[in-house]
Amino acid sequence: MDDQRTVAIHADDELAELPDVAPAIRPATTFEHQDKPGGRTYRRASHETVERLEAVLGALDGGHAVVYPSGMAAIAAIVRRLRPRRIALPDDVYHGTRLFVDEGAGHGDWSTVTPDALEAGDIRWIETPSNPKGLITDLDRAAAECGDGIVTVVDATFATPVLLRPLEFGIDVVVHAATKFIAGHSDAMGGALVVRDLELAAKLRSDRTRDGAVPGALESWLTLRGVRTLPIRVRHQTETAGRIATWLTDHVPTVWYAGLPTHPGHEVAAKQMDGFGAIVSFEMDTADEAREAVDRLRIFRNATSLGGVESLAEHRVRSDPAAPPGLVRLSIGLESPEDLIEDLNDALPG
Ligand code: PLP
Repeated sequence: MDDQRTVAIHADDELAELPDVAPAIRPATTFEHQDKPGGRTYRRASHETVERLEAVLGALDGGHAVVYPSGMAAIAAIVRRLRPRRIALPDDVYHGTRLFVDEGAGHGDWSTVTPDALEAGDIRWIETPSNPKGLITDLDRAAAECGDGIVTVVDATFATPVLLRPLEFGIDVVVHAATKFIAGHSDAMGGALVVRDLELAAKLRSDRTRDGAVPGALESWLTLRGVRTLPIRVRHQTETAGRIATWLTDHVPTVWYAGLPTHPGHEVAAKQMDGFGAIVSFEMDTADEAREAVDRLRIFRNATSLGGVESLAEHRVRSDPAAPPGLVRLSIGLESPEDLIEDLNDALPG
């Protein structure tokens, strides 16, 4: 069962507790005590749907998955578990991650440094492709630079395990905002950590039970249903994104997409990924031009977030004050590429 299309649908088969072909939604928070070992007792400690989702996500990334109620909950969980003295963040990174790390530094929990100042026990944080510019980090190089002791964490939300499996490069921890492509329908929040070390996964689960950061039954179920089609969706969305990025190069001043040969990360992305992903950012000359272009779009919805079946466009400074003023981020969905290009053509000036 190597093909991810099969993995996404069957990796959890053996964990099914009922003969139902589709997993049941199981809302119970508590279970009758049983006089045999290993039974379930309370939902914060264990739940069938959570375990099935973890089996699928772990198999897709080649590690052990632990799931959370959001991407940020996963990020907080791994940083708190590792308790680093220093964290190195990349320049272009999800603004929520930056806020979490900067506030912790402000409280004296750790300090933020450049990667060359890291020591054993510290965290090198990587986001590839990054949000919003799709910048690429060379994972072979990062893993080699960090050597033993420095923990490498890769937020691979934009790539998903379909396009990038960081553990194969020697990375220690993968983060996914499952809210995005993994759930895939803009209707469920979730997060996941995928780690190589079984002992670390067990500690993360026990932290999660203690802290109560468990995903709800319905959210886990929706995410499990969403992940079944992840490989198909991501490949299709990526193909459309490539066409749109190429089209945009003739219509806007700057396009940020690692699939374009002009992107600074193109060669590394081509080497380490199985495709360039479904997020395309572009820059207009001014913030007004960017906002007006987004306002004129009809099929692309003007909204934050990404990874769903519907295409979204966001004038990024609305959510991320550090984004360039003229930057628009597109999340390419599953609509017809021709319709999306026509929508952009009608919305962009001249
Ligand atoms: N990481 C990246 C790259 C993201 O884009 C996001 C959200 O946009 C997150 C993490 C946080 O995920 P969530 O919104 O599920 O907490």
